[in-house]
Amino acid sequence: MTILDGLGFATDPLDRVSDRREDREALSTLYARGDARAILIARDMPVLRKTGAGLDALLPVSEIEALGGARAEALLGLLPRGAPVFAALLHDAAVVQESDASEGFLDRRVLVVPGRVDLKPVDLRSIVAGALVPADQASMLASAKALMHWHARRSYCSNCGQPSVVAAAGWRRECKTCGMHHFPRTDPVVIMLAVEGDDCLLGRQPRFPKRMYSALAGFVEPGETIEAAVRREIEEEAGVACGEVTYFASQPWPFPSSLMVGCFAEAKSRALTVDRTELEDARWFSREETRLLLERRHPDGLTAPIPMAIAHHLIKGWACGKVAFGSGRPRAREACDGEPAS
Ligand SMILES: [Zn+2]
Repeated sequence: MTILDGLGFATDPLDRVSDRREDREALSTLYARGDARAILIARDMPVLRKTGAGLDALLPVSEIEALGGARAEALLGLLPRGAPVFAALLHDAAVVQESDASEGFLDRRVLVVPGRVDLKPVDLRSIVAGALVPADQASMLASAKALMHWHARRSYCSNCGQPSVVAAAGWRRECKTCGMHHFPRTDPVVIMLAVEGDDCLLGRQPRFPKRMYSALAGFVEPGETIEAAVRREIEEEAGVACGEVTYFASQPWPFPSSLMVGCFAEAKSRALTVDRTELEDARWFSREETRLLLERRHPDGLTAPIPMAIAHHLIKGWACGKVAFGSGRPRAREACDGEPAS
């Protein structure tokens, strides 16, 4: 048990074998193995297979051709027993959209694979929130979705505008016209708790579920350190100046391709000036209150994010006293004593 139990997308079981990405013969051999599996992505949505026990994200690679071939493929890596796992971006025509009730950041499209009732496209947020596949499969889905999202939007060279081609087992695109190499991007996002005395600062965006408060967050800008981004975002969103910043833990966040960098920041002031264009509200919560948020027992019905989100673990780290500045450091890999139920 560690304080990070239940964190989504953080248990990738694959050996990425990056040294084999340029070796076409080795890639062909891996692809031909009987135990080779593929994660299929169609229109940014994973395509799962229904099984007697539930849903499976790892399909035989033969399904790629059966569903009309791929726009791009990548070798994600090898499972502990050596079976290779590929990701494939299917053509849009492989699925049909039946409806779209998407709102805010929730993907509520209903897609179907014509003629294949055994296959079910499901958005990744629902997969991880509902634990529809094992945690290690959800982590592989995160890699596949982020990488295929990038391929789907980088068919042309951003330098000269000519078509680019897939290279390095799906981990690079190359422009044969100008020679530019393009690499998949990961966008760092800081997500943090400002803490002062026995209190921590949480806020809520209008798009959050009702009565849910969470850690403040924002993109790291070019030329900025993680520490500077943490201080800037807290100052911008809540008007609170911060001093020391400490790293806690990180989480891949494939919506579409971020890395959440969890931190704690030592607040130097308490007065709040909330940026109402970003936040509906922000307020200080005592350590006792944060425990009630996590346990869903807060007297005002307020809640915190579920364990799949790193914000949950930041709040839990604070609630159980795993935060210290100066000589101490947050200890994300340790279990909480008297851990609040999640
Ligand atoms: Zn080019």
